[in-house]
Amino acid sequence: MQEDISIYEAAKYPWSVMARSLLKDLDVTLSEADKNPKILQRTSQRLLGALDSKSLVELEILDSNPYVELTSFFVAKALVDGIGSMFLRRRWATAEAKRAEYNLIKETEAKLAHIGQVEFKWQVENLTSRFAGRTFTHRLYFANYLAASAGFHEREWKLVNKRLSDGYVLLRKSETARVIRAAVEKMLVRDIKKITTDFPSNIKEVYNTVDEVVRKRTDRIRQEIQGEIVPEAFPPCMQALLADMREGKPLSHIARFAITAFLLNVGMDVDAILELFMKTPDFRDDLARYQIEHIAGKRGSTAYTPPSCAYMVSVRLCVDPEKVNIRRHPLAYYRQRRKWQSKP
Ligand code: SF4
Repeated sequence: MQEDISIYEAAKYPWSVMARSLLKDLDVTLSEADKNPKILQRTSQRLLGALDSKSLVELEILDSNPYVELTSFFVAKALVDGIGSMFLRRRWATAEAKRAEYNLIKETEAKLAHIGQVEFKWQVENLTSRFAGRTFTHRLYFANYLAASAGFHEREWKLVNKRLSDGYVLLRKSETARVIRAAVEKMLVRDIKKITTDFPSNIKEVYNTVDEVVRKRTDRIRQEIQGEIVPEAFPPCMQALLADMREGKPLSHIARFAITAFLLNVGMDVDAILELFMKTPDFRDDLARYQIEHIAGKRGSTAYTPPSCAYMVSVRLCVDPEKVNIRRHPLAYYRQRRKWQSKP
């Protein structure tokens, strides 16, 4: 009975510590999953559903068998690692995090606090309080709140617009669930594993299907942003980073990553980017080349895209934060601007 309860819980939150340890206990292998058509079908649904921007993410647990639900998450994760596309990884992480939020809303307030404490080591408590006619259900330590909500750009999430008490941010239940969703998404995007084995045949088929959809989508986007590079269409954040490089100013690690990923995605080659970095302090040809090639996906399985506008704001690289509500990604800015500039 206890195991039934825990497998149902693990199926709802398959990224949790408890789910991972249960899967280890169940000792499920990819070869075993390969023989189960339900797992294969659900894996495919998870990934293709996440990639389909027109359809809403299906939030309910579709398969009544929690074992299938749990295992399909891990097969999907292995495929995301194997395919190595950041586009797919971000879409999949968003879909899984939305599903988590949908389930969290239905939990008790105490459970939400427990998840925050166990999964993210937050200082969070389920404590009911009332201020100005509003009821709050949780308090979250401000530093944890700031880290988790860094990508939120709506005014209501700014710390100045939050009720604070003794260094804790007071949150309603739906807000706590939203903050956990952001933390889940970030965790899934960052948890990249290198796949060293071949997938068994049926899982390989799902891999091929998903890979083809990803390739078509990213090729289309690439066609729109590649071709002749139009520097005038670069977004202000990237123009600012380029100006800093030309002036020989030191760039932070994340700034280097953002500008390199941006330039690679608009079609600049490794040598041309290397030349731009030559003026920066502490330049080392071998190290810089290695890093650029790594971001380009030439040294691993993942080719990276630059961070989203929300993330750029959180690391203070956005130079136009007022516009973040209308912009989502520096590459989207470039794509639109380039199209607009090439109109006769
Ligand atoms: S809104 Fe986005 S594209 Fe514009 S400067 Fe900020 S990060 Fe760059």
